[in-house]
Amino acid sequence: MSLESRLVQCGVGRDTHTGGISLPIYPSTTFRHPGVGESTGFDYTRSGNPTRQVLEETLADLEGGARGLVFASGMAALTTLFLHFSAGDHLVVSRDLYGGTYRVLGQVFAKLGVMASYVDTTDAAAVAAAIRPQSRALLVETPGNPLLGVADLQTLGELCQNHGLLFIVDNTFLTPVLQRPLEFSADVVVYSATKYFGGHNDLCAGVLIARTAELGERLYFLQNSTGAILPPQDCWLLLRSLKTLSLRLERHCRNALEVAHWLHGHPRVKEIYYPGLPGHPGHTLSLEQTRGFGGMLSFRVDSPATARQVLKKLRLISFAESLGGVESLMTLPAVQTHADIPEPERLRLGICESLLRLSVGIENPQDIIADLAQALEG
Ligand SMILES: *Cc1c(COP(=O)(O)O)cnc(C)c1O
Repeated sequence: MSLESRLVQCGVGRDTHTGGISLPIYPSTTFRHPGVGESTGFDYTRSGNPTRQVLEETLADLEGGARGLVFASGMAALTTLFLHFSAGDHLVVSRDLYGGTYRVLGQVFAKLGVMASYVDTTDAAAVAAAIRPQSRALLVETPGNPLLGVADLQTLGELCQNHGLLFIVDNTFLTPVLQRPLEFSADVVVYSATKYFGGHNDLCAGVLIARTAELGERLYFLQNSTGAILPPQDCWLLLRSLKTLSLRLERHCRNALEVAHWLHGHPRVKEIYYPGLPGHPGHTLSLEQTRGFGGMLSFRVDSPATARQVLKKLRLISFAESLGGVESLMTLPAVQTHADIPEPERLRLGICESLLRLSVGIENPQDIIADLAQALEG
């Protein structure tokens, strides 16, 4: 069955007791044992919950992986994954990275002896040069955040295989509808489900998908041992959200392209970062490895003062963190999402105070453009 139909049908037919189309929420924290040494398959909710199980199986199926695991947030998923590594291990990581991932690696895992190097993962030679004898994994975000750089998944996958590295892809920006990292030999796919999976700015969740059952079992051990699980009510809400994922993304992509084209002609917009524009350095690569360019774009205006003016004047678009919801949101990465990156490093990356990031929602694109037009005026 197509991905679109599997998304819509997720959870359907799984309630065999009543035939309910909507999957029941099982709040029970514990489950009766039929006898000593016997189990219904569920014993205690941290170890396994019927609502969570359907969600985890659905996500593994959508991605084409052996095992899916859901967590209380994207950071909980990443933290659990990083606990797979030991003191002395080294990770090669995208430098155009989600700020929270940068923070947990630099301020939590570094103290535990797990070290990371940040490289431009759009440059495969730079990635190869950063690999050390202690390197255990490569973590890539593509497109990057907030500059939307595109990494070559095929080349990086081969590099990981040649060096025995775990290949981890944070696919939050595109989801399996638009980009399928396991087809490029990724070992683990990571999501902040707070973004497009949840899609309505009302749910915080994270996901890990393991390519193999063996790695899935190891990650399940860590999930159960450390306990950052997603509660059953939120599992239900995420299942509900998945049903419209491909429909939403279609509109996000269409709107983002329209907004990007409009921004392109604006005199106060100096640079636009959207892989859907032919002038973007990752455009051709995106055409090859993705099924769409996504709903995220960033742009540089003529001064920090203009950026502040835009945020102040916005009406329809909300000045708020986060992304991937049906409502359009704009943020100033230098001050908000990427404030934990030290200033010299931030500026070297091009994340200055004139750079705005827009999560294009599914409103009528003309209304989004009209809001940008009035905010940029004057
Ligand atoms: C938001 C985000 C995260 C962190 O997820 P939370 O759900 O906020 O904990 C990780 N990676 C990317 C790319 C994100 O956008």
